[in-house]
Amino acid sequence: MSRLVWFRSDLRVTDNPALHYACDDQADVQAVFILCDQYVESHPIGPRKLWFIRESLKDLAVNLQKSGIELSLLRVAKAGDIPAKLMAFCKEMGIKSLYCNAEYPIDEIERDRKVKASCEGADIAFRRYHDRCLIPPGMLKTGQGSVYRVFTPFSKAWKEKIKSARLEAYLAPETGRGKKAKDATRAIDQCFARCDLRPAPDHWQPGENIAQRKLQEFCDNALLEYDEQRDTPAGPGTSRLSPYLSIGSLSPKQCYLAAAARVKGDWEKHSGVNTWINELIWREFYMHIAQAFPALSRHKPMQAYTDDFPWRYDKTLFQRWCNGETGIPIVDAAMRQLNNTGWMHNRLRMVTAMFLCKNLKIDWRWGERYFMEQLIDADFCANNGGWQWSASTGTDAAPYFRIMNPVSQSERHDPDGQFIRRYVSELAELNNKDVHTGRGAAAYCDPIVDLNRSRQEAIDLFKSLKSNEATANES
Ligand SMILES: Cc1cc2nc3c(=O)[nH]c(=O)nc-3n(C[C@H](O)[C@H](O)[C@H](O)COP(=O)(O)OP(=O)(O)OC[C@H]3O[C@@H](n4cnc5c(N)ncnc54)[C@H](O)[C@@H]3O)c2cc1C
Repeated sequence: MSRLVWFRSDLRVTDNPALHYACDDQADVQAVFILCDQYVESHPIGPRKLWFIRESLKDLAVNLQKSGIELSLLRVAKAGDIPAKLMAFCKEMGIKSLYCNAEYPIDEIERDRKVKASCEGADIAFRRYHDRCLIPPGMLKTGQGSVYRVFTPFSKAWKEKIKSARLEAYLAPETGRGKKAKDATRAIDQCFARCDLRPAPDHWQPGENIAQRKLQEFCDNALLEYDEQRDTPAGPGTSRLSPYLSIGSLSPKQCYLAAAARVKGDWEKHSGVNTWINELIWREFYMHIAQAFPALSRHKPMQAYTDDFPWRYDKTLFQRWCNGETGIPIVDAAMRQLNNTGWMHNRLRMVTAMFLCKNLKIDWRWGERYFMEQLIDADFCANNGGWQWSASTGTDAAPYFRIMNPVSQSERHDPDGQFIRRYVSELAELNNKDVHTGRGAAAYCDPIVDLNRSRQEAIDLFKSLKSNEATANES
């Protein structure tokens, strides 16, 4: 009796519950990955992330091959075609059970619901596990039985729960089990043949072993100082593991276990480790929120009243932001980092996002989409959460009156302008004071907006929306 493991955002053989349970006896196991054109366009998945997925699939296929598991590739035009395509494949291969790990945005939940129904109709067992979060969505509830909307109590409950969890990473399936599997490289290349792909810079080498090595290096060299170094964009203070976590070359459990092991399990007492694990909890918080509030996947703000904010749809200003040509050095450096490398430092994601939606007042959904297209670590839940936080439209978001000033942020977190100079060559010769404003650089553009005036306008607009909402609730 054959079993099929359907890989999605879990491109690894270690600590993969679906793969582990499919291989728990000597059953014949096969694997499949489905590329859906509609997902690529509507989510959207940019050329760098697509390239990263393709290369990571090659690494996965080699690792699976060692255990006699062959990876097949299927391509469909629409999400609606997935159940029929999958059932036809199962029939052809004599599959009796389908194994996968859950995903939480609404389209993925809906896709799985349909596939499960098709499996039932075809007498195929459908088995789904959780690997995207250490504590799966739906398992943490407030005293009143509702979903946490605020991060701090969520994180307290998370930490309490994790203490009583027995956590062990699943091993990769035995090598040498099963039949000899075919090399999947050609099939992978063919499947992605008509896709727009862009190789990522060298730093982002794909693959599970590389992800493990980077995790270990981070834990050995930077984890203990993470709390002090994480806000400095010029330095190597953060793990840069997000691309691997986003496609599942690495699991959050592997991250948690490695970090905890670094301090012999006593991580809450070590500020650096505690702060890093807190970031992993933010990641889980946004997944729980996305699953509980499907409207978020339909481009809705979490705080309904903010839907009436008079967002602007100025394509010229937006393009200047995308290109890193706003005349605000730290914003331009950050956007150029994104465009050149497919990644941006967390503090700068907040700074550039706030600048777009508060100073320029451009709809946060434009920025959200642009990030999804460019980021090699694009992840719907974290990205939507980050954008809604910055736009003050989200749950537990930045209060509308707390707007980051990009120049002060730059002075504080990039004091000698090292990061700015790396990406904005026009400013390379300026002194450490002017590099933050761009004043005196002949080849650099003037700011496209007055920071103080536009900040005050945003605050006033939010304030009046809030008071309208309060009046409407009273009457
Ligand atoms: C506007 C905006 C958009 C964002 N878009 C994404 C995105 O598409 N994909 C993505 O993975 N992260 C996103 N983030 C969160 C965060 O910026 C990145 O996860 C982080 O910069 C990745 O770098 P790192 O791996 O070095 O993180 P580290 O600081 O080493 O943190 C470890 C891991 O924790 C998770 N994490 C860290 N910070 C956050 C956070 N604030 N929210 C959720 N998870 C977090 C990531 O998986 C990260 O790899 C966004 C943040 C903002 C403000």
